[in-house]
Amino acid sequence: MMRHQTPTPEDLCAIVIGHVDYSEHDRIVRLLSAEHGLISAMARGALRPKNKTFSHSLDIGNRIRISINRSKTPGALWKLKEASLEKACHRARQSLFKTALLTYCCEVISMLAQPENEEPKLFALLSKVIEQLNAAGEGFGDRYRIAVELKSLAFCGLTPTLRRCVACTEPLEDNYRFYKVEGGIFHNKCLPKRAQVLSPQRSELDDLLGVEISEAWRQAALLTLYSPLEQSIGINMPPGPKWLFSEMIEQYRQRQIRSKNFLLSLEKL
Ligand SMILES: [Zn+2]
Repeated sequence: MMRHQTPTPEDLCAIVIGHVDYSEHDRIVRLLSAEHGLISAMARGALRPKNKTFSHSLDIGNRIRISINRSKTPGALWKLKEASLEKACHRARQSLFKTALLTYCCEVISMLAQPENEEPKLFALLSKVIEQLNAAGEGFGDRYRIAVELKSLAFCGLTPTLRRCVACTEPLEDNYRFYKVEGGIFHNKCLPKRAQVLSPQRSELDDLLGVEISEAWRQAALLTLYSPLEQSIGINMPPGPKWLFSEMIEQYRQRQIRSKNFLLSLEKL
């Protein structure tokens, strides 16, 4: 005789990286967990004022303990049964800049993490970012954001080639350029071949000509990639392309990082 089986919920720790409110009372949350990478889940009743099941824990940057049922079909919404706060992200959210940086880091990592597949390194990285944004004062410096971009790329197997020329693998001294599509540096004598474009758009020029970077910038990027994240707090990069790795991520995913504009608008204040 067939019996209807209720699926056993799984208990795990996750970080809220985004959400969309759905109907009057429900919220769809995007979560990152070490065990399952990216998960999208329905939290029924999360927006009801007296809701106790999710204890108002479903906000960006919160680290939560959850009880969840996976979906039967890959890519479909999982069902969030319960959630409680493990570590709130209140302090970071009191600062506009930290809120922007947090949202940006969540989006970058969500663009690179695999859905429904383990992502222990990206999970550990985002946990650290959230901890640091909640602990340290203001003045994070642009090297911190670049460190998050570089480490996220490295953890999903897309480490930019910064030590040697992508084409000839010889060391780099000077006269080189960075190409976002190839994700690395080429000697000027080894530049990748591109199809001819008669009148390229501005956005296509970087791809055709590469991006000029200085030796000081390259060394700083290498240091940023290989040193612990906390060593980049409050430090600025030498003059150079501020959004190079961010654009590399956009190039890879073929879409814009939406929260970048929020950060950019604050830089202009
Ligand atoms: Zn070369």
